[in-house]
Amino acid sequence: MTAEIINGNKLAQALRAEVAERAAQLCEQGEKPGLAVILVGDSPASMVYVMNKEKASKAIGIHSVLEKYEEDLTEAALLERIRALNVDPRIHGILVQLPLPPHINTHRVIETIAPEKDMDCFHVVNAGMLMTGMPRIRPCTPYGVMKMLESIQYPVVGSHAVVVGASNIVGKPMAMMLLQAGATVTICNSKTRDLGHHTRLADILISATGQRHIIKGGMVKPGAVVIDVGVERDKDGKLWSDVEFDSVREVAGYLSPVPGGVGPMTITMLLVNTIEAAEKALQAKRVAS
Ligand code: NAP
Repeated sequence: MTAEIINGNKLAQALRAEVAERAAQLCEQGEKPGLAVILVGDSPASMVYVMNKEKASKAIGIHSVLEKYEEDLTEAALLERIRALNVDPRIHGILVQLPLPPHINTHRVIETIAPEKDMDCFHVVNAGMLMTGMPRIRPCTPYGVMKMLESIQYPVVGSHAVVVGASNIVGKPMAMMLLQAGATVTICNSKTRDLGHHTRLADILISATGQRHIIKGGMVKPGAVVIDVGVERDKDGKLWSDVEFDSVREVAGYLSPVPGGVGPMTITMLLVNTIEAAEKALQAKRVAS
């Protein structure tokens, strides 16, 4: 079997066209969607991520503000800036690019973002709402993966999904969204014994560890959907991912590639979240007036 490739670029393009239309409608109604992205320090990888987010936002008509600060920015100054954005009516979404320098408490920063403007869905209120089945905002990467499954019309209900990686950013919310979509979910972490035993049971296998080629063809159930979230660039600039593409392609039914898979979908869902936040802000204004 040779897996069908899930083309994240193509899917993202179609979704961005829809989002651009919604952005135009909001502008016509006087509510231009606004996104603020904050970067502290000059990590080249983070710089690339925020530039891509800014470019994508502008391309679909979002008012995008990129705030870059020196590595030695104090935590107090960052929190003050976030509080100002929280009450800025032109800004519907705030994203603080992680990781932050070690002298800044990441948890405190995330909890300072107004939950309704927390585009990453990292705030405990949003994480709790997601867990209790009432999501206000959905975390960008897992939301993008769900859209990929939807694009191939995969019957998630009753399937067995295995999520490799259990971070608050990807693995846990991913598992929660799959569970709420009706899958039976297994979550694996770095202590999991015999990872292959679990992955071979998966109808849907999602790997988000950042461990190079941790998933190989022999660990995949024939015909499974395999979504490769993990990505890293080595010192020579070569891109690596969690899934060993060539061997897995021969076993899986569907496979998302790196690049061109989850990455463009993550950025797209950030745009979707920003538009949804602006739509809610407009609705709230109407109710109040
Ligand atoms: P993270 O916070 O480092 O978490 C990694 C997770 O993988 C942890 O839960 C860890 O287990 C688990 N893990 C590590 N080694 C493992 C092993 N041998 N077997 C099973 N589980 C193992 O990373 P993250 O933020 O979730 O990101 C994961 C990867 O996804 C990274 O490569 C990141 O760059 C990528 N990513 C890509 C996108 C995109 O848009 N394409 C978006 C977000 C993240 P423990 O909990 O036991 O430590």
